Amino acid sequence: MTKVMIFIDGSWLYANTGKLAQDYARPDLQIDYGLLPEALAQRVARAINLPNSDIVRTHLFASIPDNYDQADYDSVRRRLDFFNLLKEEHHYEVELFPIDFRGRRIRNYDRDPADPFEPREKCVDIALATTMLYYAALPHVYDIAIAVIGDQDYVPVLQHVRRLGKRVAIASIRGSCAHDYADPVDARRVKDVDLIWLNDMIGEIELRYEPRQLVCQSEFHVGDRLVWTTYRPRRNQPFFCDECRRVYADRHQDDYRSKPEPRQAIVRSAPAEPEYVSDAAMKGGLIYEIKDDRRFGFIRAHDGLEYFFHLTDLANVTWEEIDIGMEIEFQPVKSPSSDRAGKAATVTVIEFEDDWEADFEAEPADEDYDDADEVDEYDSYEP
Ligand SMILES: [Zn+2]
Repeated sequence: MTKVMIFIDGSWLYANTGKLAQDYARPDLQIDYGLLPEALAQRVARAINLPNSDIVRTHLFASIPDNYDQADYDSVRRRLDFFNLLKEEHHYEVELFPIDFRGRRIRNYDRDPADPFEPREKCVDIALATTMLYYAALPHVYDIAIAVIGDQDYVPVLQHVRRLGKRVAIASIRGSCAHDYADPVDARRVKDVDLIWLNDMIGEIELRYEPRQLVCQSEFHVGDRLVWTTYRPRRNQPFFCDECRRVYADRHQDDYRSKPEPRQAIVRSAPAEPEYVSDAAMKGGLIYEIKDDRRFGFIRAHDGLEYFFHLTDLANVTWEEIDIGMEIEFQPVKSPSSDRAGKAATVTVIEFEDDWEADFEAEPADEDYDDADEVDEYDSYEP
């Protein structure tokens, strides 16, 4: 069977998804990265009259902020979460390259206008080109490379991959595509298939929140647990129905109204060997302190009492994903005393990010796309 390998310039694709959205006057339009590889492979197979093809792998190359202002921590964490989703749920190979922000905010408009600092994306295009050429030079790895790109820089690698006898297809976005790719004469000899416009594939690749049935895992759920929802929980993430979320939120508003002052005398030290004294019902609270070096943190329950938890008590998140202020539920396994925080177990994030793609709405690229070598990709993080 004909083997296809897909190479996505992730930085370019996020920065230009806004162009697709404009076409359809749908600012919320997002790409379903789970559907994209198969949809592209089918387009290419039809174009060259293949009965079918086999996607060997999908590679995505992008950058990630490093050394940035901690005010952008949530935004970067959501981005990492998105890349994890690509790896875990869709089996993408994701290669990320840090951009050094030198302690600054990641979006232009959050930085001082007088600050001449410009973030520079490094390595993304070279990494894509190297990987594409490397696998082209190895025997029997792939027959067709599908490149999801717009920047002109890839012309040499596409030419070399073709000289190795591989077929090349390019998928791009109108208004964000180098002329060399869009040229119907193909003067630069970069492709074997007519250019594929993602603009024409929206019906196949759009992210849809179609209703489906899931089992609500809340202990407070009333009635049939199988409910219709458009929410898409991640693997290993518990699902709570809208009603349970609403009831939970209402209850906590009441908690806030009648909230007692937190105890002042609590010394927040972690007992070395916690005793497990009860199996009480889950309580709600907020993470209010994280000791990164020692891998434990503190929760302030909505009743004002304080509890500590350890890395091993996290139920549905990783240590890297937790954050101060996060709304959680936990099981109190040891009550607080006058000088010590209690012990929490089964720390469960309730409103775990369900809008991981919301960050990927983008600003339109420059009108004169061929000259847009230094696109400030980070303006596209959050419009
Ligand atoms: Zn429920």
